[in-house]
Amino acid sequence: MPTQDERAGTDRIGSEKTMTALVDGILAHPATGEEIAAVQDQLGRYPRGMVAVGARCVCGNPLAVVTRPLLPDGTPFPTTAYLTSPEAVKEVSHLEASGLMNDFNQELGEDEDLARAYRQAHQTYLDFRHALALRLGDSEEHIRTTSAGGMPTRVKCLHALTGQSLVMGSGINPLGDRVLAMVRPSFDPAVCRCARPWGSAQGQD
Ligand SMILES: [Zn+2]
Repeated sequence: MPTQDERAGTDRIGSEKTMTALVDGILAHPATGEEIAAVQDQLGRYPRGMVAVGARCVCGNPLAVVTRPLLPDGTPFPTTAYLTSPEAVKEVSHLEASGLMNDFNQELGEDEDLARAYRQAHQTYLDFRHALALRLGDSEEHIRTTSAGGMPTRVKCLHALTGQSLVMGSGINPLGDRVLAMVRPSFDPAVCRCARPWGSAQGQD
């Protein structure tokens, strides 16, 4: 039987390799001007440091973007997987307003399996960013141990956890996955409910 440390060591290497492959896949399709314009429209501001779209609606609209560890002006940016879909942001904000973060924090304090999976999600976030920083030549010095959303021990932002689940896939962040399951009747990447589906409005305004 491997010890828990040995098992964690193997998981670490596996996570690094998986995240490097994921980052390479994402960087194979750098953000286009059209995508940056679409995200600017979603956020109501220019998406500084946007590297690529990290998750899409079935229609093609960006749902979350991958942002570089160091913004062009040198500001470290920890929220590497950033939720941009207005429909998703709205639904997740409703959950935050309902007090779900308190429930999650209480559960993290009581359920050691959940707490362990959440710590692993934090490490995977750092592995993803590390792979991205290496590829882009960005320094991650100032955010090397900082992930997002309150990880590894607290829940402070459900949008950040949801962004991670969308960009890195299910099975990585247990709480991001649960948020996505809870909002599914109103927001589902597999069911387009976009106010402006991809291709319907680009180039207007
Ligand atoms: Zn859509």
